[in-house]
Amino acid sequence: MTGPTDPVAWLREAAETRERTGMRRVLRPRPVDDDVLDLASNDYLGLARDPRVTAAAADAARRWGAGSTGSRLVTGSTELHSRLEDRLAEFVGGEAALVFSSGYLANLGALTALADAETLVVSDALNHASVVDACRLGRATVVVTAHRDVRAVEDALARRTASRAVVVTDAVFSVDGDLAPLADLHAVARAHGALLVVDEAHSLGVIGEGGRGACVDAGIAGEPDLVRTLTLSKALGSQGGAVVASSLVVEHLVNTARAFIFDTALAPAAAAGAAAALEVLRAEPQRAATVRRRAREIFAGLRDAGVSSTAPDGAVVSVLVGDPGRAAHAAATLLADGLRVGCFRPPSVPDGVSRLRLTARADVTDDDVVRAVAAVTEVLSR
Ligand code: PMP
Repeated sequence: MTGPTDPVAWLREAAETRERTGMRRVLRPRPVDDDVLDLASNDYLGLARDPRVTAAAADAARRWGAGSTGSRLVTGSTELHSRLEDRLAEFVGGEAALVFSSGYLANLGALTALADAETLVVSDALNHASVVDACRLGRATVVVTAHRDVRAVEDALARRTASRAVVVTDAVFSVDGDLAPLADLHAVARAHGALLVVDEAHSLGVIGEGGRGACVDAGIAGEPDLVRTLTLSKALGSQGGAVVASSLVVEHLVNTARAFIFDTALAPAAAAGAAAALEVLRAEPQRAATVRRRAREIFAGLRDAGVSSTAPDGAVVSVLVGDPGRAAHAAATLLADGLRVGCFRPPSVPDGVSRLRLTARADVTDDDVVRAVAAVTEVLSR
C-alpha cells in the first residue's frame, strides 16, 4: 500500500511553473522615504501624505481608537462614518452612501446584494478582479461581454430569461485606462429595466469637473437606477470603499450586504483621512485636471519616442509589452534606475498582453515626466 501523497507537492510544482514562465511575484520592500519616482501608486492627487489628511487620520485614531471595534450594526455607527457618507454622496451627486472597509468589499457587497439567483449580470470583459469575484460569489447568471461593447450588452439584456438584470462596468478600466461608454450603457440598461453598477475606483478625483467622477461627467449621476462603487484608497489617499446610490439601495445594502454586515467597520483613521482628502479636493478642484494633463503628457512623450501606449482617459497610461518575463524584467530595471511603475501579468491581464502601467499624479513635475518617458523608452529598446 502506498502512503498518503504529500499535500503540498502541488504547491511546489506551481511555484516552479511560476518561476519558469516569468509569472513569479515577490514582495519588495518599500522604505518610508526613498528618492524613487513613483508612477505605480494610485495616490493620484498626492494626498496620501498631505499633512491635512494625515493629521485628520491621526486625530481620529487618538479619539476613536486604532480600530473601529466591530460591525456598525453591532457596535454602532460613528459620526465619522455618517459624515463621510454624507460628504461622499453630496460630492458625486448621489442620494446616499455606505462606506465599506475597502473598494474590493464595496464591489462584493453591492453586487452580491443586488444580484440574486433571479438576476442576470452583464459584466465587461475587462472589469476589475473585485467585480469578477463579486460575480462569482453571487448566485446570479453572469454574461461577460466584449470590452466596451454596448451592442453586446443590449443583446444580453434583450435575450434574458431572468426577471432582473444588472449591468456592471468599471468607469476607467484599471489596466487599460480607458473610459466606459457610461451614458450609452445607462440608456441601454434603463430601456431593459436593468440597474447599472459603475465602479468609479479610478475616476473619483480624476474625471469630471473637480474630480466628481465619470458618472457626473456622463450626466447620469443621481439616477435611481445607477449604483456607484468608490474606493477611498486611490485619489483620496486613504483606505476603504463606498457605495453611492439611492436611499432605497443603501438601506437594502445595510440589511443584506454581507461584506458590510459581517465586516468590522472602516477604521476611524481611514474614514477621517478620506473625509479630509475630500475637503482638500473640494478646495483645490484643479488637482483633477492636473492629473489628467500629466497622464496625457506621459502618453504624448512616449508616443513621440516611438513607444505606443493607450491614450489615457484618466490617470492610467498602459504600455503593452507582451511577454510576462520581459515586462517583469523591464519593471525591475526601471526600479533599479529610480522609477517605480506597475507591472501587470496574468492573471491580472490575459495571456500575451503583459504590460507596464504608469499612473500619473497631480504632484509630479515637468522633469519627472521627461525622466519617466526617457527611462521607459530606454528600457523597452533593449
Ligand atoms: N475597483 C477597481 C477598478 C480597482 O482598480 C480597485 C483597486 N485596485 C478596486 C476596485 C479595489 O479597491 P480597494 O483597493 O480599495 O480595495
